Amino acid sequence: MGKKRVLVGYGVDVDAVANWLNTTNGAPQNPTNISRGIYGATVGLDRLLILFNKYGIRATFFTPAHSLESFPDQLAKVRDAGHEIGLHGYTHEYISQLDAEEQKVVLEKSISVLTEFCGGKKPRGYTAPSWSTSRELIPQLQEAGVVYDHSFMHHDLQPYYAPDNSQSWIETNHANSADSWMKPMGKIKASKIVEIPANWHLDDWPPLQPIPGRPGAQGFVDTHVLEKLWREQFDFAYREYDTFIFPISVHPQVSGKPQVVLMHERMIEYINSHEGVEWMPLCDMATEFLEGRIAGVEVEGGVDT
Ligand SMILES: [Zn+2]
Repeated sequence: MGKKRVLVGYGVDVDAVANWLNTTNGAPQNPTNISRGIYGATVGLDRLLILFNKYGIRATFFTPAHSLESFPDQLAKVRDAGHEIGLHGYTHEYISQLDAEEQKVVLEKSISVLTEFCGGKKPRGYTAPSWSTSRELIPQLQEAGVVYDHSFMHHDLQPYYAPDNSQSWIETNHANSADSWMKPMGKIKASKIVEIPANWHLDDWPPLQPIPGRPGAQGFVDTHVLEKLWREQFDFAYREYDTFIFPISVHPQVSGKPQVVLMHERMIEYINSHEGVEWMPLCDMATEFLEGRIAGVEVEGGVDT
């Protein structure tokens, strides 16, 4: 076993009211759900700031521009405490459902709102709302000068250069002959965007946030069960890799709940009991990779077609 270097960090999605407004078809939202978002931006956010302060952790707050414009005083606390503020759309819209031009409009608006709020400092990182992405995303981030993304899942414990998603693939369509879709995927081409991978198994929302009628958000998992799932991922990583990253995704309206704050305290203390652990915002993980201080991996696959 070599000397360990473990980069651990929280990506906090300040979805607030924005997430609930994203009904995608303009359908009216239930005011109780709006209140859950307000709880996140106020009570939940404050509790996470106290948690991070207690353990000396600087985190990344991926903030929809709508959250920032609606709760500027709350986000000022985040900014002034030295945390990173990253991009997370405007109203948590699913870019997979927008055309390329609309995606660009949202990205440009979000960048300008965050840049102005941070005194002219451009955001370095992006995570797609609900990790619902598009083929245009990585090229658009690159063109906009964003340094890293946190939406893809080619690996779970290592940084890498994100594929640009320009490779061909053919969806199975039973309306067409089998011969038309029995084709391999085209060769993957890397972009210049660093990927700090996303991971549903290190996310608080699906297990802990109940949304009636949505099977993916059951919401009533015992926090000790979730803690065990997270610990086992950490244990495996620590056994198998000398260097790795461990980005955890949380939401103030979920992780600000009392029972979840307690889980985070136990988890942070467990992680801190290991040698070689360094907590940092996701932008610093990207810098470590870009400057060669953590090797990461290369994503390969696909063939010339
Ligand atoms: Zn989100």
